[in-house]
Amino acid sequence: MLQAQATANLFGLNSEELKQLAMEYGEPRYRGRQIFHDLYARRQQNLENLTNLSKSFRQQLALRFAVIYPRVREKLPSRDGSSRYLLELSDGQVVEAVHMPEKSRVTLCISSQAGCAVDCRFCFTALMGLQRNLTASEILGQVYAIAQDQRMDSHTRLNIVLMGMGEPLLNFAPVMKAIRVLADPDGMRIPWRRITLSTSGIIPRIHDLAHEPVRPKLAISLNASTDEQRAALMPVNRKYPLAELLAACRAYPLRPRELLTFEYVLLDGVNDSGDDALRVAKLLHGLRAKVNLIPYNSGSGLPFRTPPFPRILEFQEILSRKHVPAFIRISRGQDIRAACGQLIVERTEAMAPEDQSH
Ligand code: SF4
Repeated sequence: MLQAQATANLFGLNSEELKQLAMEYGEPRYRGRQIFHDLYARRQQNLENLTNLSKSFRQQLALRFAVIYPRVREKLPSRDGSSRYLLELSDGQVVEAVHMPEKSRVTLCISSQAGCAVDCRFCFTALMGLQRNLTASEILGQVYAIAQDQRMDSHTRLNIVLMGMGEPLLNFAPVMKAIRVLADPDGMRIPWRRITLSTSGIIPRIHDLAHEPVRPKLAISLNASTDEQRAALMPVNRKYPLAELLAACRAYPLRPRELLTFEYVLLDGVNDSGDDALRVAKLLHGLRAKVNLIPYNSGSGLPFRTPPFPRILEFQEILSRKHVPAFIRISRGQDIRAACGQLIVERTEAMAPEDQSH
């Protein structure tokens, strides 16, 4: 077996790194691009199948490398067809991802960090605190592990949303490295329009994202209509208040037909009044943007409830009347706690014993 002695993971290296690697072995640079294509477009995990390479090069690579995805530790199917995955990383850390099939496409919601430090009050992941950042290999690997588990073929129309555990912009470089592989015509070939990064509003990194040559669509988790309300729900607002956040959004360079998305988790009696809707419309005035209204998923442990449906409709209507396109998004996977804001790996699974008293 070629891979018996391998120690390092080849999966997650980008095109340039693979070209450098090929040259280290005395091979031409273009061999690196062939490996890239085999790993990410052909989804090969067995180095023996990289048949563009000579047998001796494959053997040398296999002495050092294997192609390793996160391990599917558990898959929890929902009644609505979606599945919550618990994926185990090489150090035993566990992250979550959600598979949501629809008629003509599949959406994967993936994590960028194990846990999260941002501490949004309505979010289960916040209860874990930040365990650690994920590597590009671990971010990408969630997509490949689920594609393999679901036996997805290369024609499956995939949407990727970075809305799982973690704040993607607080793990900027690995997230962008993974996105570049996903979007590469020689990699996963997912157009930028079908990759969405959702942020709580880390302003300096929004500016950085604006300068990236390959960038996904941007979604901002808004969830409030005043600074006071937002700071109570999202402590990050104290550092990055609404006026500055919206100024960064106004400066953000949108491509033709691109819209910013603002996510707004509706919390009964907290941020769902008509006045809130009017203030949101005012905040977003003049922005090329749409709003996704996400009725909160009630669950044990957090002191919030789902608003009554007529109030959700009224909120949407007020925004629409003010010319802000607004869509009600009913989260999928509610019965398996895979819905927006509900991803959490049980503390006992995710934390080392000495951490469990936090
Ligand atoms: S909503 Fe997102 S940014 Fe906020 S705590 Fe949860 S995972 Fe972190």
